[in-house]
Amino acid sequence: MKCHIAQDLMPSYMDGLLSRETEQDVRQHLEECEGCRSLHAKLSASIDTAKPHAAKKEIDFLKKVRRKITKKVAAAFAVFILIVALLTYLFAIGSTVSKQDLVYTTSIVGDTWEMNLELTNGKALLVHTEPIYGDKDDKGFKPIVGVLVTPRELLPSPILESGNSSFMYGTTIDSFTKYNHKVVLRLADCDVVFTPSNYDAQQR
Ligand SMILES: [Zn+2]
Repeated sequence: MKCHIAQDLMPSYMDGLLSRETEQDVRQHLEECEGCRSLHAKLSASIDTAKPHAAKKEIDFLKKVRRKITKKVAAAFAVFILIVALLTYLFAIGSTVSKQDLVYTTSIVGDTWEMNLELTNGKALLVHTEPIYGDKDDKGFKPIVGVLVTPRELLPSPILESGNSSFMYGTTIDSFTKYNHKVVLRLADCDVVFTPSNYDAQQR
């Protein structure tokens, strides 16, 4: 075997890719030829030092892949949270009702003042009521001066049993006449305020 052929075959020889006969020929040439033998020794040494580098590259690659996966998982989780928030908003919190989507009527039944709300846009009605506090008095006590009624519209949900579109709010007439309370119906576009002077306007 000529030197240049042996040298051409050397990488494959070292990787064990040669046929058995060719490998035998190369090995025999190496035994006989000092030049090729020392080249083989050099190549072997350089491969030995290159190996840890290659291994490190592989580890870096794996780390990169893992980092990518972590990022993907984080992104998927963020999307999941967004969806949950959106569903919560649509089904549980809802948005304030516009005046055009709500019909409200008031009536006096015995000693009770009633306000009936009817949502007309096909969505489910959920009504929040909360006290309205006035300014602090001398003792630092905040008196209740009324009730805030906030209708909200939700997507009808089979889970939350919120299929209703009507709601009745009632309070004693005393709360207007005796306690000087007001009832505020909060809509997206305006507040409708019932006070001691106008709560029974329709009855007059
Ligand atoms: Zn040679």
